[in-house]
Amino acid sequence: MARIIVLMGAPGAGKGTQARLLQERLHLPQISTGDIFRALKESRTPLAEEVRKVMAAGKLVSDDLAIRLVRERTGRQDCVHGYVLDGFPRTPAQAAMLEQLAIEQGKRIEPILVEVPTDCLEKRMIGRRSCPICGEIYNVHFKPPKSDDVCDLHPEARLIQRADDNSETVRARLATFDQETRPLLDYYDAAKLLHRVDGTQEPEAIYRDIERIVTRDR
Ligand code: AMP
Repeated sequence: MARIIVLMGAPGAGKGTQARLLQERLHLPQISTGDIFRALKESRTPLAEEVRKVMAAGKLVSDDLAIRLVRERTGRQDCVHGYVLDGFPRTPAQAAMLEQLAIEQGKRIEPILVEVPTDCLEKRMIGRRSCPICGEIYNVHFKPPKSDDVCDLHPEARLIQRADDNSETVRARLATFDQETRPLLDYYDAAKLLHRVDGTQEPEAIYRDIERIVTRDR
């Protein structure tokens, strides 16, 4: 049965890096709701303005909108054989919708928690940078680019910092995670669905752990 790999974990745990590796190496499309909302907030519409405000405050965009976008995106042809979700579900309502969607799509949900102690997360997020061309994720402390501030693959591009990776918003995002999303981990754990990987390892070691889970009895 095709799977919906759900990468879970606090902001800054490294879900985005792992989702990109899964896409590159196992050809599973990665769907990041954060990326979708970041693209959406650039347009000049009242909805974009609202999304911008919510993201700057470190809060969550409405369940209705998140659910609508995920339903639309995962209905496309490239998702037929399975896909990776990064950043969804984040609330019980989103988890309920995902269960419904999995039934409709004939897929199995496989949640994987990338575990990182809370006290490391703030430093990780504030040090995070990405390439505006290819989206490669760097970190000034843990994974610096070969030369300062530019992508290894696109030397013409200066790395950018996400607008919500500033210390005030980062703290709010961690609080939002604790309040809204952490209960989902308990829910998946109680259902004996949750896999855990040690997110303090090097990205390649984390990837190997995730790959083992994803490729098991396929
Ligand atoms: P992320 O890149 O996953 O850290 O997401 C960045 C921001 O996008 C979050 O702080 C939320 O404001 C918004 N967002 C991303 N995914 C969701 C979701 N599933 N539900 C609601 N808001 C979301």
